Amino acid sequence: MRVFACPKCRAWVEFEDRVCLACDTQIAFDPDFDELVRAEEHPLCRSRDDIGCSWVASPDPAAQGACDSCRLTTDGPPADDPTAHSQLVLAEYAKRRLIRQLRHLALPVVPRQGDDGLAFRLLAPVEGQGVITGHADGVITIDLSESNDPHREALRIRLGEPYRTMLGHLRHEIGHYYWLMLVERGDGTIDPFRELFGDERQDYGAALQAHYGDGPGEDWADQHISHYATTHPWEDFAETFAHFLHIADVLETTATVGVTVDGPHGVPEPLAGRILSTGAVELTDLSITEVLGRWHGIAMALNAMTRSMGRQDLYPFVITPGVARKLEHVHELVRARTAAAA
Ligand SMILES: [Zn+2]
Ligand SMILES: [Zn+2]
Ligand SMILES: [Zn+2]
Repeated sequence: MRVFACPKCRAWVEFEDRVCLACDTQIAFDPDFDELVRAEEHPLCRSRDDIGCSWVASPDPAAQGACDSCRLTTDGPPADDPTAHSQLVLAEYAKRRLIRQLRHLALPVVPRQGDDGLAFRLLAPVEGQGVITGHADGVITIDLSESNDPHREALRIRLGEPYRTMLGHLRHEIGHYYWLMLVERGDGTIDPFRELFGDERQDYGAALQAHYGDGPGEDWADQHISHYATTHPWEDFAETFAHFLHIADVLETTATVGVTVDGPHGVPEPLAGRILSTGAVELTDLSITEVLGRWHGIAMALNAMTRSMGRQDLYPFVITPGVARKLEHVHELVRARTAAAA
């Protein structure tokens, strides 16, 4: 994500902010211009007060006063459940980040009509009836209890995952959607996919069962970005897609805040001064080698910084050559879209 300035006083404001803390101006995000605007000059999303949505209303009358993110949510929790409502607020924050990035990359975001297009069901478990996070033909279902930090963190530890966030879930599920849109419905795209990720026609249920039974071999990380990616070619693609979005977003932030890694300093040769990494607002003109070259230094530096604060690595993953080839596949799919839209 890039950074934003208040439209009135030019102070630094965050993407989620609805008021500038420096000058008290009410602000809103206009996704068509990728800019913050003065709220008083624009029709605002009808969910601004209810869930703290910071976006302007969609100019499309079919959105009925919702913004281009809120309109995609077709199902939510019951209005009289305050816990679920506060979890919905957090999930929608993450979803707006997702939608803004998809638009930035010029990936298609088409609101669902009939059996086509994209929709989000953000649901809370009701009376012991669980919600299963997943994707089916453009409909993404999210279990809102993943907004609950202790619950999500307990799951993360139990499943042995190094990273688990609401934004990460959304990026994974949207990866399934773009597999459908860019791979299955693409032109000549399924064979290269199968060559790298495997044949997705294998039985999904049996594959999941094998994963939770025997698990993958010890060398799973040679070809997979995460343990979960080993379950099925679809999951592998979704995990890889999510990582592409992670990397693209952090590189965009890095470029716009002006962070360059040029070091390290104060260490002896041969390490001293070996890493030079900058961000990039657009990845379209870069090869995957250039993208990952920039990412390497930034990720090393960010991990060193979060460790300095006593936290775990910000990016607790290793990109092997096998994983880089899969990221390249995603990068090529995405940049074909970005380039076509430019
Ligand atoms: Zn201001
Ligand atoms: Zn909204
Ligand atoms: Zn999945």
